[in-house]
Amino acid sequence: MAEAAPKSQAIGEFLEWLQSEKGVYLGKGHEHDGSCKEVGPHNRETCIAGITGPCKHPASYKANVCGMQSESRNAVMYTWTYNLEELLAEFFSIDMKKVEKERRAILDRLRAGKQ
Ligand SMILES: [Zn+2]
Ligand SMILES: [Zn+2]
Repeated sequence: MAEAAPKSQAIGEFLEWLQSEKGVYLGKGHEHDGSCKEVGPHNRETCIAGITGPCKHPASYKANVCGMQSESRNAVMYTWTYNLEELLAEFFSIDMKKVEKERRAILDRLRAGKQ
């Protein structure tokens, strides 16, 4: 982690600057899970499609009760709260593994070339 310290510091300062100076926060896309789907028969009265005309959904239809009708996970974003230190530690441990893997790959190539 020692080699990552200056980078880690800079990223941390940047994220804090975004929030305090720019009012910019990290957002995360909603992902549907089992609790998002309607339980029981589809409610035709509250169906969003019903606003512009009668609900034409088949009887088997299960709406997303989370209110997010789109299947795209990034259609709706919510402010993501995170622990900055944990986030940086996670990022840099992944980064370190990648660096180590690349270093080994280079060494392997060098060794193979010598034979
Ligand atoms: Zn959902
Ligand atoms: Zn409907």
